Amino acid sequence: MRIGALEAGGTKMVLGVFDEEGHLLEDTKMPTRSPAQTMPEIISWFQEKRIERLGIGTFGPVDLRKTSPDYGTITATPKLDWRNYPMYSTLVGALQIPCAIDTDVNAAALAECRLGAARGCENAVYVTVGTGIGAGVCVGGKPVHGLMHPEVGHMLLRPNANDPLPGGICPYHESCLEGLASGPAIAKRAGTGAENLPADDPVFTLEADYLAQMCVNLIVILSPEKIVIGGGVLGQEHLMERIRKETVRLLGGYIQAPEITARIESYIVLPALYPISGLIGAWLLARDEA
Ligand code: ADP
Ligand code: ZN
Repeated sequence: MRIGALEAGGTKMVLGVFDEEGHLLEDTKMPTRSPAQTMPEIISWFQEKRIERLGIGTFGPVDLRKTSPDYGTITATPKLDWRNYPMYSTLVGALQIPCAIDTDVNAAALAECRLGAARGCENAVYVTVGTGIGAGVCVGGKPVHGLMHPEVGHMLLRPNANDPLPGGICPYHESCLEGLASGPAIAKRAGTGAENLPADDPVFTLEADYLAQMCVNLIVILSPEKIVIGGGVLGQEHLMERIRKETVRLLGGYIQAPEITARIESYIVLPALYPISGLIGAWLLARDEA
């Protein structure tokens, strides 16, 4: 069986065709423009490839309540063209094949859990720190939905006393994770992108604090067996070690698990499937639906 996978991102769409064993047979990318421009391109690519199922990992927020009439519809995105866009029903209607949908980050979390850096874990979190901050959460081997889906990027944090921008840049919240620690938040303080800064720039002390606060919150709330952190900002390779150290410090010795006290370097880790965690996750969603 030929299984299609779509990772629908805010800046680009990544499309792939897999076989049932998970070999990637073909893939392509296209920029994310308006739905009217982009969706017909996606649909005709998948039609040409004669796929029999499709898995979709999409940017959000997206309605994932199975009983909702708006299942698979993008909701409050700042990308106005895509607000209220029925991603799932458009693709099902056009392709006439079984489709499965989740958030891009839940798809990536599923892939890292089954096949990647959190392989063997039933409970793990995948975080991406880039233009935004998003996270997928797997519990009991499955992505978490509940009310909608986790919105880890908007957890509220304690601003660092040395932060010149303690409120952050999120239009919705003061001092939330994405507002304080996304790539654009770093660029706003430093006047240039995180990729252009030296490792000892003070902005990275703030960044390590905020991502460590995030790890602490994830640990105390979800008790994950592994935290996987990727995304463009982790291209500053020194950050990972600083996040680990700061996480242990902030936990204050309260959590006694040796995974944290003795082996933090294999507890907070980079993704193993980068840059196609999300695409592989979309394939898994479609395959699991079978
Ligand atoms: P997106 O989140 O849009 O999918 P990325 O995960 O690549 O894309 O994140 C883009 C952000 O990461 C930008 O804010 C950019 O400044 C930052 N970035 C890209 N490369 C690096 C790097 N090598 N080091 C640090 N930051 C980077
Ligand atoms: Zn926010």
